[in-house]
Amino acid sequence: MKSNTEGRVFRYRGTELHTKGWQQEAALRMLMNNLDPDVAERPEDLVVYGGIGKAARNWESFDAIVRSLKELENDETLLVQSGKPVAIFKTHLDAPRVLIANSNIVPAYANWETFHELDKKGLMMYGQMTAGSWIYIGSQGIVQGTYETFSELAKQHFGESLKGTITLTAGLGGMGGAQPLAVTMVGGVCIGIEVDETRIDRRIETRYTDVKTDSLDEAIRLAEEAKAAGKALSIGLIGNASDVLPEMIARGFIPDVLTDQTSAHDPLNGYIPSGMSLQDAAKLRKENPVEYVKLSKASMAKHVSAMVEMMDKGAVTFDYGNNIRQVAKDEGFERAFDFPGFVPAYIRPQFCEGKGPFRWVALSGDPEDIRKTDEVILREFSYNTHLCNWIKMAQDKIQFQGLPSRICWLGYGERARFGKIINDMVASGELSAPIVIGRDHLDSGSVASPNRETEAMKDGSDAVADWPILNAMINAVGGATWVSLHHGGGVGMGYSIHAGMVILADGTKEAEARIERVLTSDPGMGIVRHVDAGYDLAIETAREKGVNIPMLEG
Ligand code: NAD
Repeated sequence: MKSNTEGRVFRYRGTELHTKGWQQEAALRMLMNNLDPDVAERPEDLVVYGGIGKAARNWESFDAIVRSLKELENDETLLVQSGKPVAIFKTHLDAPRVLIANSNIVPAYANWETFHELDKKGLMMYGQMTAGSWIYIGSQGIVQGTYETFSELAKQHFGESLKGTITLTAGLGGMGGAQPLAVTMVGGVCIGIEVDETRIDRRIETRYTDVKTDSLDEAIRLAEEAKAAGKALSIGLIGNASDVLPEMIARGFIPDVLTDQTSAHDPLNGYIPSGMSLQDAAKLRKENPVEYVKLSKASMAKHVSAMVEMMDKGAVTFDYGNNIRQVAKDEGFERAFDFPGFVPAYIRPQFCEGKGPFRWVALSGDPEDIRKTDEVILREFSYNTHLCNWIKMAQDKIQFQGLPSRICWLGYGERARFGKIINDMVASGELSAPIVIGRDHLDSGSVASPNRETEAMKDGSDAVADWPILNAMINAVGGATWVSLHHGGGVGMGYSIHAGMVILADGTKEAEARIERVLTSDPGMGIVRHVDAGYDLAIETAREKGVNIPMLEG
């Protein structure tokens, strides 16, 4: 049978345009790249990652987006509503070429039940974060964030590295699959429980995971041997986390570090209930979704309860951004929030400096272009040894998926400087084609998500969602190439509002001005948001960098 992607999803490379300008071409190539079978988790269903995070609403809409991008003039803007192209308006040369709104539902109705009803009627899709905003770059997109998290955790609890420790986690999907690699990069041993063996195979193929087993005894033995030898090793263990954790406790096995990245944000299409094979889960999901959700939520409560028990027995435990604590709490498990989220525990200081998962992609398809930009980082940011170590490790360990790309956490000032250098390199012909520069929505000033990025804000402003909206608006007027505003990414419906931006470096003077504006205001919003919440580090950064904040004294 012919796959849905055949004859539709193309690997456009090189300098030949299929559109009327590089900005439209960039959007087209990135949309195709999101659905490249080497990149997406289930491209035949338009699913990119994160449960049912999609790039377009359905194949008809995908075809219409492609057609629209091919016809779009250089002074027009395409509007996309939950993965469906709905209008093209005349704007101007500096305006975004695409504006995207995904999965937004009026707050009082913002839950999965309403979403599924709308989805069934063909009125909506789930955009996750980078899926519906066309800047997903495979598991690499999250590796550095995961590496940053585990590095900081190691620093806080074990000295400089995770050497001689075992980290237990679950979920080796599109994003969660980065965990085993990140843990080994920080020198530790990782057991990653995953219910779907094909996901483990994919991580092994792409060198994100070292070995797999379906035996709990073998996983524990391999992990303990590697721990004793001080060796880094990652083990994919086939199993269901809500069953395996209690079994581990029964055998007296407690890891040093514990977290989870199953798709718990979505109890129907993400999490697999306890005791179920994938086939049984798929059948029940179709035949009785209400029963499925009930079992799924009960299993999550069991899973979180086992996590708390392991924490009580000494495991350094944190939530990894999938909202599993909320579900367990709603199920009546009182201690669900006893362990912290990863942002307040390890990441917030970086957000205060406007740092976050900044990324760029070589539209040429030539890995040499990324190698040259890596060299720039090593040269221009040589004062930042942590960053330079990251780049060297990434060059060695990260296999590109789809278009060659790189990620690294840069902050205010650094992003604009690096963006200009990239644009100059395109202008001079040093790079063989334009580069797109973007980021995850999980960034310092682009998301409101009280159980994740904005958990435990100093001033209690966790649920204030004006910030991502301001972020999207300032990036649009600044001239980002495409801008997106989404609801429900990471943690599911009702729990987050977030914005994305991507900007093209095509070597022109106009692009240079746009890059300067957008790559200043975007991380600037991160500083502003954290200054407003009263963080000293953000206040110092704003003063030092001269960010203009009307009510900041001194
Ligand atoms: P994904 O859907 O691609 O993968 C989830 C994986 O979990 C799947 O492979 C699935 O088989 C597995 N799984 C489901 N139930 C399981 C169970 N009971 N036991 C063992 N394995 C099970 O999703 P993803 O893109 O990897 O994202 C995972 C979660 O992390 C999502 O909730 C996402 O929103 C969140 N997320 C967090 C961050 C972060 O930085 N912390 C970033 C992106 C996504």
